[in-house]
Amino acid sequence: MAIVKVKRPKLRWYEHLYLPAIFKGLGITLKHAIKTLRGKAPGAENMASSGLGVTMQYPEQKWDNQLPEYYRGVPALVTDEQGRERCVSCQLCEFICPPRAITILPGELQSDDPWAKVEKAPREFDIDMIRCIYCGMCEEVCPEQAIFLRQDYAMTGSSREEMVNDKGRLYEIGGVREGLVNKWNELK
Ligand code: SF4
Ligand code: SF4
Repeated sequence: MAIVKVKRPKLRWYEHLYLPAIFKGLGITLKHAIKTLRGKAPGAENMASSGLGVTMQYPEQKWDNQLPEYYRGVPALVTDEQGRERCVSCQLCEFICPPRAITILPGELQSDDPWAKVEKAPREFDIDMIRCIYCGMCEEVCPEQAIFLRQDYAMTGSSREEMVNDKGRLYEIGGVREGLVNKWNELK
């Protein structure tokens, strides 16, 4: 394995004072403040309720329809076009999850299912949203494209139990995802 030594950059004498960096930061803040006062801040038209165009009156106002495609919200399970569970309860996401927010109890497919002998599905699948840090590692690691971070972000509850999304809720949030899934690929 190649080892790359990264040299620590040498700071000049004035850089040791950190003053240039501080003034640079203040300059950026000032630039944004002026932009805001002139009503030119990003998204100003959509958040103009304050008069200055910077304050969003949440929850009356939301930015939901402006969230980018890649926005990482609540993780959820998805089914395929035929309503079948994509998840094979391999537990990779459970192992990779940094704050251990995922708990899976693997299960079998029903015996009359043609795939019953070769594939599995989770019997229980919980994600504790108090622990979840929305990192997206579960989505990255999943070999079946069964778990995705959706655009929902407003997860609330009045108890710890309410903040745990069980399998039913996860499928409700996740919905249907189209496309070939390895699990159902007869050529696999
Ligand atoms: S998004 Fe990150 S923290 Fe949340 S369940 Fe997935 S792996 Fe765990
Ligand atoms: S969601 Fe994906 S990674 Fe997690 S158990 Fe199911 S198939 Fe495995």
